[in-house]
Amino acid sequence: MRQVLAEYGWGEELVSFRTQLLSWFRQARRELPWRGVGNPYATWVSEIMLQQTQVVTVIGYFERWMEAFPTVEALAAADEEQVLELWSGLGYYRRARFLHRAARQVVEEHQGRIPSTVKGLRELPGVGPYTAGAIASIAYGRPAAIVDGNVIRVLSRVFELRGDPRSTENHKKHWALAEALVDPVSPGDFNEALMELGSQVCTPRSPACLICPVREFCAGFAGGEPEALPEVTRRSAPKPMRAVAVVVWRVGPEGRELLVGPRQAGGLLAGLLEFPTVEREGKRWPGVGEVASMLGIEGEPVEVGELTHIFSHRRLQTRILSLELSETPEWSDPERWRWLREGEVEGAAISALTRKILRRWVEAEVLEA
Ligand code: SF4
Repeated sequence: MRQVLAEYGWGEELVSFRTQLLSWFRQARRELPWRGVGNPYATWVSEIMLQQTQVVTVIGYFERWMEAFPTVEALAAADEEQVLELWSGLGYYRRARFLHRAARQVVEEHQGRIPSTVKGLRELPGVGPYTAGAIASIAYGRPAAIVDGNVIRVLSRVFELRGDPRSTENHKKHWALAEALVDPVSPGDFNEALMELGSQVCTPRSPACLICPVREFCAGFAGGEPEALPEVTRRSAPKPMRAVAVVVWRVGPEGRELLVGPRQAGGLLAGLLEFPTVEREGKRWPGVGEVASMLGIEGEPVEVGELTHIFSHRRLQTRILSLELSETPEWSDPERWRWLREGEVEGAAISALTRKILRRWVEAEVLEA
């Protein structure tokens, strides 16, 4: 392990690097609800939520989740709709589905005990090398490494790694360095410290090198241009998509009711509730009649607005229409559609896109009234 560090001229530096980073972390660390709880399940949930989502956003979601599903058994016993409801708004719903499936696997195959080794953890759905390393080191104190975007930035700067950080070669270097650096006595604190340094001090555009606890080891700082690392390569432009969504509504005994149904399995956001929608790849708009024939209804929907939503690789433009029904027709797919009271939709298992559509529709309906 130390051999990889020797290639960068490191010898005695290793011990000092660990000591300085750890002592900085122990006085600078933020109090977070999943820190220091000694509960592998809480570590797991927080690490999955923190992928692609900022800490401040995760705190509320984490607390509500742990209240609803305090143990891995409680999560395993929940149905998917409850799980997606609590995840609603966090995005990247595959994370929630994998977490749910993995909880069932832990209960069925491991008597409810979350595996403690990287190898055992990797056998759970949705648990990649990062999450496995995080649970093994933070919750079980095993000397496993973790590499995330913050760690990549810190390592790229400290060791002055050039080239695309996502290349196979650099990917291997990041893992080899993280494994060599991790402190065998306090691996969890060490890994959290490296990530915290990346998020609080060694930030992408303006690293605070003057207050950095590991500045003396940093080749990027010595080179005078640490913010130029890692060398970021341009991503390809997101693909265009067009959609038409119709908010079909009626007046029920307790006010307005909106028609929703689960998105058909397989694509983006599968299984989440949405308004009747037709979408397609490319820049050609689907016809309004396609939504009507999907539902098996007739009517003249009213144009409400248009919005753009960016997914990781797609740029989706959606035309929003509103259609009031005075009586419930014979749906062409009655199993799929159901009415929810207007106030219930916001709290249901909907995506951020559906929430945006709902808000746009409410604004338009209020203006019309
Ligand atoms: Fe990052 Fe600057 Fe610290 Fe180097 S010295 S690790 S560039 S904050």
